Amino acid sequence: MLLFEEQMKGSAGASPALQATAGAAPHAVDRHHACGDEYRRVSVEDKRVIIGQTDVNHLVPFKYKWAWEKFLAACAIHWMPLEIQMSRDIALWKDPGGLTEDERRIVKRNLGFFVTADSLAANNILLGTYRHITAPECRQYLLRQAFEEAIHTHAYQYIVESLQLDEGEVFNAYHEIPSIRAKDEFLIPFIDTLTDPAFRTGSVENDQKLLRSLIVFACLMEGLFFYVGFVQILALGRQNKMTGAAEQYQYILRDESMHCNFGIDMINQIKLENPQLWTPDFRDEIHALFRTAVELEYRYAEDTMPRGVLGLNASMFKEYLRFICNRRCQQIGLDPLYESATNPFPWMAEMIDLKKEKNFFETRVTEYQTGGALSWD
Ligand code: FE
Repeated sequence: MLLFEEQMKGSAGASPALQATAGAAPHAVDRHHACGDEYRRVSVEDKRVIIGQTDVNHLVPFKYKWAWEKFLAACAIHWMPLEIQMSRDIALWKDPGGLTEDERRIVKRNLGFFVTADSLAANNILLGTYRHITAPECRQYLLRQAFEEAIHTHAYQYIVESLQLDEGEVFNAYHEIPSIRAKDEFLIPFIDTLTDPAFRTGSVENDQKLLRSLIVFACLMEGLFFYVGFVQILALGRQNKMTGAAEQYQYILRDESMHCNFGIDMINQIKLENPQLWTPDFRDEIHALFRTAVELEYRYAEDTMPRGVLGLNASMFKEYLRFICNRRCQQIGLDPLYESATNPFPWMAEMIDLKKEKNFFETRVTEYQTGGALSWD
């Protein structure tokens, strides 16, 4: 990963207030504001998700209403970790007979992955993706998304602190635990592509690189790599264990579900505006990445659950990951990879919708919805 200073050095020479992005095609920079071109107002037709208009500050006139609506919806479900009581979790964790060793392993492995994953996600958005997206409506959502990643990192840190876990062990798990490290090693090259200060959109090859990284991030990181962990902690909560942590994960799941759906909407819009990127070879390559990701997440499931626990076992997750993978394929217009995979955890869909699950964990569950209507699948 590149340091922030290196990022800034890389973008030297760009005039940040008006220009598209450090990563946008150089020709885009010159179009309206330099070289004596005549000034004219930005219109809807100038807007594109990538390689769009020079001036990225025109939120209106709106073109990408779906992005703006997701921004409003995300703000309407704002929540903060410290609002959630952790006292029952602390008592249970301290009680030697409170949880089995397998249950404790799940909690620690989970935090080991997530405590750094949302930080990687935030870096990917702010130091990478944001620079290459030229639609102001999408940039607005990405800023909100980055803040939510910070809230999630806070939530995990708050759980680690509440349970007085070994911070060094948890925060270094992504180096030290092979099943976690393998997931992050799979992701990092795709993040590095976007955060490379020399990377520019504007050629088919590079625009495919951008699209590939966006697909990996939305469909595989946020859309697949998070789900074994979510199911495990929410399954604990359903058995009235670690209810504070489970409540936090429930809010995180709801946020992440929207991140994933926003990413998919953005991917599909880029496809629509740049059909030349969606070649048969490119689609095959994406399919191969999906297969690898399912394999990596399954290995993580096996590592976190060497034996059956909480009525869950690793082979249920094999089916679940295949089911989710098929769904992600279909969402971006690819054929499903695994025939007749079914969902062994139908209750997960309800977990995302807090209105249905209010008071599920018998804790002070609040909807946190301050306005607007939410609907996503
Ligand atoms: Fe996210």
